[in-house]
Amino acid sequence: MTRLIFLGAPGAGKGTQAQTLAHHRNIPHISTGDILRQAMQRQTPLGVKAQDYVSRGELVPDELVNDLVEERLDEPDVEHGWILDGFPRKVSQASFLDELLQQKHSDRNVRVINLEVPDDVLMARLLGRGRADDNEEVIRRRLEVYREQTAPLIDYYRDRQQLVCVNGNQSLEEVTAELLDVIDS
Ligand code: ADP
Repeated sequence: MTRLIFLGAPGAGKGTQAQTLAHHRNIPHISTGDILRQAMQRQTPLGVKAQDYVSRGELVPDELVNDLVEERLDEPDVEHGWILDGFPRKVSQASFLDELLQQKHSDRNVRVINLEVPDDVLMARLLGRGRADDNEEVIRRRLEVYREQTAPLIDYYRDRQQLVCVNGNQSLEEVTAELLDVIDS
């Protein structure tokens, strides 16, 4: 059973690696960023509410993402595992998830991967990516929000002995190989 949470700054490669691993293991890749972008594109009620926050590089309010993750983890395809990418992104979301997984009796074997990449490399990658929320000012804000709100989750999960750190500053293939070693161990 593979249940993984991907941590890491914007640009660390979470999305790409999460997708590759999910494919390898044939389990769903649940990216809150992807779900929000799709909702914004379709202008669903969720998308309309999230739009302003996302375009400014701020986190959307907990109740929006908590609800969407809760609903997603109720789908039948998560039965054999899942990879969460972009959630939790702050301690309040991590507590919510802990409780949710406890209710589902599946909190025991969740591992948390922290993909580590130096700041200058992150900035270069993000500027090269060209997504709508990837202009320099918004990127700076996203990195700031990461440091203030998401980075504390590294200690949170280390204290719970769930954390595994992987060097994200290697080729895509090298990172994938390391990650496969981790999830097979
Ligand atoms: P990144 O490449 O910055 O990691 P994501 O695709 O994960 O980007 O997320 C894009 C944006 O979606 C974030 O900047 C934020 O506004 C919003 N978002 C995604 N996940 C969450 C979450 N768990 N909590 C709050 N906001 C989120």
